[in-house]
Amino acid sequence: MTIVSADYLLTCDKEFKIVKNQAICFDSKIKEIAPLKDLTKRYPDAKVILCESNSVLMPGLINVHMHLEFSANKTTLDYGDFISWLNSVIKSRDDLSSRCDEAYIDGVLKDILKSGTTTIGAISSFGADLNSCVKTPINVVYFNEVLGSNPAAVDALYNDFLGRLEESKRYESDSFTPAISIHSPYSTHPILAKKALLQSLLVSTHFMESKAERDWLDCSSGDFVQFFKNFAPDAKPVNEAISYLELFKGYKTLFTHATLATEKELEMMNDIGTITHCPVSNRLLGSKKLDIKKVKNLTLATDGLSSNSSLNLWDEMRAALMIHESIDPNLLAKELILASTANASKALYKNSGMLEKGLDGDIISLKLPDVVENLDALALFLVLHIDKAEHIFIKGIKQQ
Ligand SMILES: [Zn+2]
Repeated sequence: MTIVSADYLLTCDKEFKIVKNQAICFDSKIKEIAPLKDLTKRYPDAKVILCESNSVLMPGLINVHMHLEFSANKTTLDYGDFISWLNSVIKSRDDLSSRCDEAYIDGVLKDILKSGTTTIGAISSFGADLNSCVKTPINVVYFNEVLGSNPAAVDALYNDFLGRLEESKRYESDSFTPAISIHSPYSTHPILAKKALLQSLLVSTHFMESKAERDWLDCSSGDFVQFFKNFAPDAKPVNEAISYLELFKGYKTLFTHATLATEKELEMMNDIGTITHCPVSNRLLGSKKLDIKKVKNLTLATDGLSSNSSLNLWDEMRAALMIHESIDPNLLAKELILASTANASKALYKNSGMLEKGLDGDIISLKLPDVVENLDALALFLVLHIDKAEHIFIKGIKQQ
């Protein structure tokens, strides 16, 4: 049992409650939130940690969407336009994969943990990140990805996917959840998507990330025409946008990007599941920004280092804060913190994301550089000043 006390507790509940001068008692679950003296009396054997002045306790961050297998990219891939980027990914995929071995991914996960991220959604294309994701103390939802638009190859692609999925299922635990990722409407044949969905696992998919995708799905035109010609001379889109979204009805789904989605599509995604915002990736790949005012349960994610320079959610929050200039920064900072905690937990069906009795003991402490007079600005100051956590607990176990 551990008791941690700090000047401020950010509960990350709907009201964005901030409690002053309280402590949390927890083991693998949160037992109680009360003044320190009451907790030490009630739990005399608990280890007590007193955070430094101006510290904040909050639930660990949850980054619902990243591609660890592309972590070796720094200066390899082309940015600015989605199709140029995609071509550069295809060209450099083998090189990037060979540089991104298990030890490399272990190091990336260590950095992610330092930022105070206690849960991730890892989109896995090849299974090369499996061992690292099983070993890490971070909670992982492991999305085995399937894609392929050639109907003749459906069985072979499905069997490869199934092999990876079954392998990941061997490691299922409280902190490791096998799941599936259906890549996107432009890349995945509906027969393949339907087969994978029958697994009835949590599912992630990219949707409407670029103008090229919009043009291709709506009118078989745009930059994807030439791209697909390189693989098949008479290629046609394999999905329509709406019929693709309909495939996911009844399944727990995380939709990622949606920057070019229509009002109707946004509504459908809000009804079916949740929408994930990856502002840095969208910026680098030449997309629009997501209209986050139209998203019901917003989650925030970094995407992979194939389209970002950081997997630190504090960096992503700062980027989002700067691009959504029409929203008041204090209000937006609160929304972004909820998008990285409570909303993300809901999207991944985890028992965390808030400081509340009975939830997992996934707790971080952060140190602000100075006293906060105006508590309404606390969220904004965290987004502006924090890069890493001081103390990190996952299911009650102290990390670092
Ligand atoms: Zn992605």
